[in-house]
Amino acid sequence: MWIRPQAETMRLSQFSRRAAAQPWCGAIVDGDTVIDLPAAGDAAGVDIPRTLSDLLGRWHWAEKVSMAVTYATEHGTARADLDGLVRHAPVTDPGKVVCVGLNYEDHAREGDHSIPDEPVLFSKFPTAITGPGAEITWDPTYTEQVDYEAELVVVVGREARDVSVDDAWEYVAGVTVGNDVSARDLQHGDGQWVRGKSLDTFAPIGPALVTLDDVDDPHDLDIWTELDGERLQDSNTENFIFGLDELVAFCSRAFTLEPGDLIFTGTPPGVGVYREPPVLLDDGDRVTVGIEGVGELTNVCRHR
Ligand code: ZN
Repeated sequence: MWIRPQAETMRLSQFSRRAAAQPWCGAIVDGDTVIDLPAAGDAAGVDIPRTLSDLLGRWHWAEKVSMAVTYATEHGTARADLDGLVRHAPVTDPGKVVCVGLNYEDHAREGDHSIPDEPVLFSKFPTAITGPGAEITWDPTYTEQVDYEAELVVVVGREARDVSVDDAWEYVAGVTVGNDVSARDLQHGDGQWVRGKSLDTFAPIGPALVTLDDVDDPHDLDIWTELDGERLQDSNTENFIFGLDELVAFCSRAFTLEPGDLIFTGTPPGVGVYREPPVLLDDGDRVTVGIEGVGELTNVCRHR
């Protein structure tokens, strides 16, 4: 059962002032202002590391962020316009990217699959991570069947080992939007999925990590994909077979979850490869994945 935590609402991500620069973590306030958290922390006497995953590894990170934001707001320092910044993925260096197979009841019915008793896990390599607005790129002679998958992504906030479903929310820093981009010819040809799921740029996430107090019930959010404005996936996380708390607990029984780790929680019906006729991503396509209250993640596809 979902109980809204009592804490300050936050939208956190990573930014830079120039395209090639190393990103720093920031908090988005008032919709269009970014507080440079390491700089604000310096000014406020609070130690805030450069990357968001390092920040999540610190004790009481939320309180530290809150102190830095309050200081920056009161003193008018360490602020920048969101429009003038380059946006990066909220987490660029996760230790692992766990993915869940079939996790939407409506998707199971569409494919005539039975409802699984336990989650099926696979993974994407962390080098596949890219950010909002970045290009999804591939060599068309290497794969000819590139597909989208709209997914709610859990960002782990505390080391979790063998935690119960009841305690699982305490280990979640927040959620973001993800696109589990998949090379279907490689995925299905290999007999196992890691290559087809892990091409560079095949894990766009963002635009921000949204803390749980800033979303409505995460098990009742609209989720969709639009390709050049046409809606191809349209569901709601009420169709989850396994909730976020069950997934965190299940993963933590098998392996230690660490701050910054990501869990892609499965996709609803309407992926391209199973459409009649199939819809596959092509050079120049603009693909947007959205989740109610969490944000929209847009990427343009490029052959290379
Ligand atoms: Zn997926």
